[in-house]
Amino acid sequence: MTSLAKPDLATTVRAQIDLGALRHNLGVVRNLCPQSRIMAMVKADAYGHGLLPAAKALDSADGFAVARLHEAFALRKAGVSQRILLLATLLDVSALVACSELQIDVTAHDSVSLALITAQSERTPLRVWLELDSGMHRVGLAPQVFAEAHKTLSARRGIIELVHLTHFSSADHASPIVTNQQLTCFLKSRGAGTEADASLANSAALISRPETRGDWVRPGIMLYGINPLGMSRPLPLVPSMTFKARIIAIRKVEAGECVGYNGTWCSQRTSKIGTIGAGYGDGYPRHAPNGTPVLVNGIQAPLVGQVSMDSLAVDLTDVEGACVGDEATLWGGDLSAAIVAEFSNTIPYQLFTSVQQRVSREYVVGNYPCVANPL
Ligand SMILES: *Cc1c(COP(=O)(O)O)cnc(C)c1O
Repeated sequence: MTSLAKPDLATTVRAQIDLGALRHNLGVVRNLCPQSRIMAMVKADAYGHGLLPAAKALDSADGFAVARLHEAFALRKAGVSQRILLLATLLDVSALVACSELQIDVTAHDSVSLALITAQSERTPLRVWLELDSGMHRVGLAPQVFAEAHKTLSARRGIIELVHLTHFSSADHASPIVTNQQLTCFLKSRGAGTEADASLANSAALISRPETRGDWVRPGIMLYGINPLGMSRPLPLVPSMTFKARIIAIRKVEAGECVGYNGTWCSQRTSKIGTIGAGYGDGYPRHAPNGTPVLVNGIQAPLVGQVSMDSLAVDLTDVEGACVGDEATLWGGDLSAAIVAEFSNTIPYQLFTSVQQRVSREYVVGNYPCVANPL
């Protein structure tokens, strides 16, 4: 039998996941809204962090929300005892039956899901999150039919609980206008004196709009250490993912010589170019432009040339002592994923969820002192 060699260090690309950071960031949310229950958003493999390890680190959350049935099952089967919310359309009765059996909360957000859930609730018990389209126009019932849908569902004996849900489209914008309109729409549509719990706030809203916190908050990105409002609302969040790869080659490039596919970057001076062993095949954005920062020995070196599938190049001319084998940080730690994302005209959510299967996830547990929130 051939024995597989240990992975060579030089080709190891790793996403270091700090479970202590997740736990700490959940504490930051708890401090901000001690009156609300926390539905931790762990969809898309916990924003690329690994569903089960993340859920374990976040085990003091009151619930976990995912967007795929198999993720909801995986959580319950791993022994998660908290509420599990499936934010997805189920068109298959057997899926609803399974949700009932595994006590997975389901979402009713249009006439089709509402009809299926209503019919199913006559046979097996269900917890239902009734979603209102308060203006984002993605999913959710129209305001005109929301109260009626609530009435229909609440009359069914199998409905154990109804929660009213809506989602903000623009809570991270400087202007409060759209969020104001959505909030007004929500309050009006659900009617006065309703018994149902309310859930509105994503990370951005729960940070900047206390009046949206309601009974259940639904933080996602802030649990992973990214503040969607940036420096305008400082919070003691700790980044939970550091994406690292090693320098696999260093070469001298003369003035006028170009680097990478299509030679989109040409040197203006004699330069030291480092090739780093991670590319878009690992999840680094292919559209990252020249100048996107990469941390090498604690110094920000600029990306040069087009990102390849397995590697990318950085200008190390101004980085002293960089050697083949040194580990560079593509994002995380002192280089916020928000900054890297901005260079590539994307968002940290996409960077995190793009980290590929071939990248090894390494779990560490950092220790962070509990810091009072400045808000
Ligand atoms: C993803 C998602 C959230 C979390 O959003 P963040 O910006 O990551 O905090 C909350 N609610 C719903 C419905 C979502 O789809």
